[in-house]
Amino acid sequence: MARCDQCGNDYDKSFQVMRHGKTWTFDSFECAIQAVAPRCAHCDCPIIGHGLEKDGKIFCCAHCATQKGVRELRDRA
Ligand SMILES: [Zn+2]
Ligand SMILES: [Zn+2]
Repeated sequence: MARCDQCGNDYDKSFQVMRHGKTWTFDSFECAIQAVAPRCAHCDCPIIGHGLEKDGKIFCCAHCATQKGVRELRDRA
């Protein structure tokens, strides 16, 4: 049994995520995303995939990067 670091739910199928040397416990991916996913520098949505990174800023997609004046990033899809 472990308690979710995000919502406090005590759940027997909780799991752990390690990020920046800290171990988090979550009861769901939703909570994990809320707590540890980076946020897009433009639209502030949580980045679940690889995202795009430039000059220490992270973006969810090439569109958002372009909106912030970053032109050389492109989605690979
Ligand atoms: Zn939770
Ligand atoms: Zn975005």
